[in-house]
Amino acid sequence: MSMNIPEDVTAVLRVLEAHGIPAYPVGGCVRDYVLGTEPHDYDIAAEATPEELCRAAEGFRTVEAGLSFGTLRIISGKTEVEVTCCRSDGTYRDCRRPDSVVYNKSLSDDLARRDFTVNAMAYSKKDGVIDPFGGRADAENKIIRAVGDPAARFREDALRIIRALRFSSVLGFEIEESTAAAIHSLHGLLDNIAAERIFSELKKLLCGKNVFDVLMKYSDVFCRIIPEMTPSVGFDQKSPYHIYDVYEHIARTVALCPPDEILRLTMLFHDIGKPYSYTEEESGVRHFKGHPEVSAEITEKALRRLKADNATVEKTVFLVKYHDVRPEPTERSMRRYLIKTGFEGARLLFQVRRADTLAHSEKSMAELEKIELEEKITDKLERENACIKISDLAIGGRDLMEMGFGEGPLIGEILSYLLCAVADGECENKEAALKSAVLTGKFGKNMQTAENNY
Ligand code: ATP
Ligand code: MG
Repeated sequence: MSMNIPEDVTAVLRVLEAHGIPAYPVGGCVRDYVLGTEPHDYDIAAEATPEELCRAAEGFRTVEAGLSFGTLRIISGKTEVEVTCCRSDGTYRDCRRPDSVVYNKSLSDDLARRDFTVNAMAYSKKDGVIDPFGGRADAENKIIRAVGDPAARFREDALRIIRALRFSSVLGFEIEESTAAAIHSLHGLLDNIAAERIFSELKKLLCGKNVFDVLMKYSDVFCRIIPEMTPSVGFDQKSPYHIYDVYEHIARTVALCPPDEILRLTMLFHDIGKPYSYTEEESGVRHFKGHPEVSAEITEKALRRLKADNATVEKTVFLVKYHDVRPEPTERSMRRYLIKTGFEGARLLFQVRRADTLAHSEKSMAELEKIELEEKITDKLERENACIKISDLAIGGRDLMEMGFGEGPLIGEILSYLLCAVADGECENKEAALKSAVLTGKFGKNMQTAENNY
């Protein structure tokens, strides 16, 4: 059987070869081919200098952003193909980047600088899989093994530590013993690595099918990246609702929720605040009142430190904060809940709470039925376009100003009051009913001011 290379990629290989440049699919796509899965992209190694590569690629549109590392992105048809000049990396003094690189046009040197044996294979139409480090056997045996001496390779570039965990999680592979030992002893080197590079690997890792095992076996690495996690490891919850310590509970919930980055980050952080917010009864039973807020604060700090984008921080912090709010499965209670969460937020929270519940003791399982009822009610309310946000109200700030209220925070307060009144079924969402509720409603102290404005 030969590798089924897409036409857009073949076109690049053909042009390079016409210019006398031997070029090979390499890395992830060859690994995926050996594993019998569909590669999501094709990287090419070219036995050329960057100048020769650029000359050969003149007929294509290109992106030159990576050219200082010998990488040229070539646009071929609808595909962007990443072509890298074969190189040999010099010494690494900073655990991140080689001090110098040499474009020596040698595929075998280029494979030797790659991180793991399964990623250090190339493919040639003539010779099939080129596999100097036993990557094919490791792929068959489901093993992640550093190319060469693991400790030396992690000292060169410590990002490889978290990449090893990522591939183990995503591919469902075991990390080979000496590679694993080097990870446990050298994870401190991750401190030298740019947070965004770690975070990008972490997100992929969390969405892998083997994430539970990886979280359990490498808790030391996760605590290095997120030091706030340290007290969770082995932290006994001493509660009839729990059978796992905080860290194992967290690890289980990550694996139990759908493989979506935001959801999995939420699970990773949802209970991180527990060891910082527990109280203990005389009987020894522990309580964790307020832990979602503490977890949310830690989440925000940790995600900012990891240089997560704003949307990721905001969504994750929100879900962590609300993960333990449990509305009653009634329309009234669900409307109140939806005012806080919106429909999209509520749906994510159902997933979060399901995963959370499944990692509790049997005592909590009734919760699952409740969540299902809540979901059904939410479906119904969404079909009915239920009024759950201020902009759904039949009147707005302008109407209130026409009624004589001055501009200011009171307008917002009145609209919030009306929203709750509608949600609770105390007022119809119709202009006349809302206006009359404003005139007769009780707005506490603020209403005095409102009346004075008339
Ligand atoms: P994916 O399917 O996620 O794209 P991939 O193996 O292609 O997996 P990339 O991060 O795209 O992973 O890297 C492409 C290739 O470059 C890898 O297969 C590996 O050969 C090499 N590589 C990437 N990062 C490193 C690194 N830090 N050290 C050594 N080699 C690396
Ligand atoms: Mg790739």
